[in-house]
Amino acid sequence: VGFTIQNVLIPDEPSGYKTVDVQIVDGRITAIAPKLPELEVVVDGSNKLLLPGFVNAHTHSTEMWQRGMIPPYPLELWITHLYDLPLATPEQAYLSALGTAVETLLSGGTCVVDHLVLNPGQELEMIAAAVRGYQDAGIRAFIAPLIQDEPLEAGIPSGGVFQSVAERSQTLDLLAIIETAIAEFHNPAAGINLVPAPTGIQLCSDAMFEGCVELSQRYDLCLHTHLLETKAQQMLAQEKYGCSAAEQLQKFGFLGPRTSLAHCVWLTDRDIEILAAAQSTVVHNPLSNLRLGSGIAPILKCLQAGVNVSFGCDGSSSNDGQDLLEAVKIGSILHNTTDFEYQNWITPRKSVEMAALGGAKGLGLGDAIGSLTVGKQADLVLYDLMNLSLLPRTDPLGLLIWGRPTQAVHSAWVAGKRIVADHQVVTVDVEQLRQQLFEPGEWHSALPSPRVAESSSHYRKVMGLSPE
Ligand SMILES: [Zn+2]
Repeated sequence: VGFTIQNVLIPDEPSGYKTVDVQIVDGRITAIAPKLPELEVVVDGSNKLLLPGFVNAHTHSTEMWQRGMIPPYPLELWITHLYDLPLATPEQAYLSALGTAVETLLSGGTCVVDHLVLNPGQELEMIAAAVRGYQDAGIRAFIAPLIQDEPLEAGIPSGGVFQSVAERSQTLDLLAIIETAIAEFHNPAAGINLVPAPTGIQLCSDAMFEGCVELSQRYDLCLHTHLLETKAQQMLAQEKYGCSAAEQLQKFGFLGPRTSLAHCVWLTDRDIEILAAAQSTVVHNPLSNLRLGSGIAPILKCLQAGVNVSFGCDGSSSNDGQDLLEAVKIGSILHNTTDFEYQNWITPRKSVEMAALGGAKGLGLGDAIGSLTVGKQADLVLYDLMNLSLLPRTDPLGLLIWGRPTQAVHSAWVAGKRIVADHQVVTVDVEQLRQQLFEPGEWHSALPSPRVAESSSHYRKVMGLSPE
């Protein structure tokens, strides 16, 4: 079955816009030209802008349950507080996957990378719940179960010599769980992809990284991890390996064209060269980097060095939202403060390319999605240019990327399947979801975290802060 999006505005190369019809047959774009013959179904594209779907290239869906409640802490104390709060149950994980999908779809995304927190003892149930959520929503999903084999305390530099306490049996158990999940759930044709995804050098042993590389090679999978999110992690890498974290990932064989790396705030110029040579992707999460005081990632330098860059929202308790257009906006204009050379600044057209094609490339899908190209899969978003937040009638991409679009997504398709129509997600009962997110909670502020109280004096000392 085919359909035609008629009279729709699309960006023209290298600048400007044109009005065309777009034909989609069997989930793929088959023609883009003015005045095409109508297929079985016709979608009115007049006064609307069609773009490739963006990729929410890094999030942690279950953090939705802790949204808005963790005090202003740097990452190392923030995560300590997070782990002091009750873990989401598998049933909650299903709902937060649905919620993450809905918020991503309604802010321009058609694909999500979920670095999914796993409950000890319920790992496969958590993965199954997230898979079910994304399948029900119909969004393209890369589920990257978050695995780690060092305790939280290991993520803070000791100020001395690093001592691993990872137990080999635990490492192997976690890798075996991932292998089972791959066998059970990895199904790219259905839009569900599994990704080996160690948390990061701060919480993982060498064996964990090597095991993930091995799984990725054996099953032809992407790789994902956090990299150099904080100054403390930069210090820890030196303590642990005697080199930078990027250099160490290269030694593990972890870096390649299907590897995406969340944050990369503390890259050196040499690290940027390594990532460029490896063709790995930097996932820029500006909101959480601001919220946690992590710093400003050197995105302009990365782009100039030829590193592929995409955008992520990061989890909903370090952002504390899941609006992809907001992440793209802040992640684009933030860097104007880092370089007086305004010719290096990111234009709205470049932002769109990073969010769509950049995201696709980071997942090994640069030839399959990420642009309005005949032959590619129809992962598409239609924006309503009559929406008040996109008026008056000036430059549509400037309005969309620099503005503050609210409810601007009119329609969205994943592989040609319509997931959003008339501003509503048609696959999810959003009214029921709102009730399910509302009812179990109560309005309250977070209680102080005993574990933060235990860790903070050591953190303050190592980071050179005055004693409390
Ligand atoms: Zn993260």
